[in-house]
Amino acid sequence: MTDVKNAVIGSYRLVRTNRRTLSISLDRDGVVTAHAPLKMPQWQIERFLAEKSGWIEQKRKVAQSRQDQSLRYQVRQGGRLPYLGGEIQIALCSGKKPELSGQTLYLPNQGDPVKHALKWFRAQAEAQLTPLVQQWAQRTNIHPTRLSFGHAETRWGSMNSKGEMRLNIALMHCPPAYIHYVVVHELVHRLHMNHSPAFHACVERFYPGATKIRQQGKALAGYLRLLREK
Ligand SMILES: [Zn+2]
Repeated sequence: MTDVKNAVIGSYRLVRTNRRTLSISLDRDGVVTAHAPLKMPQWQIERFLAEKSGWIEQKRKVAQSRQDQSLRYQVRQGGRLPYLGGEIQIALCSGKKPELSGQTLYLPNQGDPVKHALKWFRAQAEAQLTPLVQQWAQRTNIHPTRLSFGHAETRWGSMNSKGEMRLNIALMHCPPAYIHYVVVHELVHRLHMNHSPAFHACVERFYPGATKIRQQGKALAGYLRLLREK
């Protein structure tokens, strides 16, 4: 049995277990946890934390911007949502169907606005990403056997060994360059079912600049959780 002693010391959480080494982790809200061996002296733990303070600070900034993002984007009257790398404004109205007019997305004021927004984003994904996949399939000569749309919390897309491709409707929040990158990424999984250097080289060959664009993924990850039904 593991003996767990929890304590909140200063701005980090200390968890002592029957382990050999000290490690630290950060949760999504930026809370630091030090996982320490049972008898390690506290000065040693705090010295380690001090050494890692640059890394912690950097991770906290990412967590903070993620929180800012979720506060900024809300599905309510006057709220905003990212759309294709830009932003659209939300207006609740008496209409029956969600509809984009100019930069304003009109959502029915009856029922859950998040549900309405999801329905609209799904329809956009189907209408806009289906031809995009076809276009890239022709260009790369890699053809998925099936294309479907989902709303997974952790991934933008997937491709299985049967050639079935799935894209996240949250891609519609992202800049077009990133959407293209994800489409090419998933197609190339038909050739490489891994993320080896050969895989990435192949993606870059089909879509020059992909390696750079891929780095935007971290900053965009918050979009995967933007529209979640309560
Ligand atoms: Zn992949």
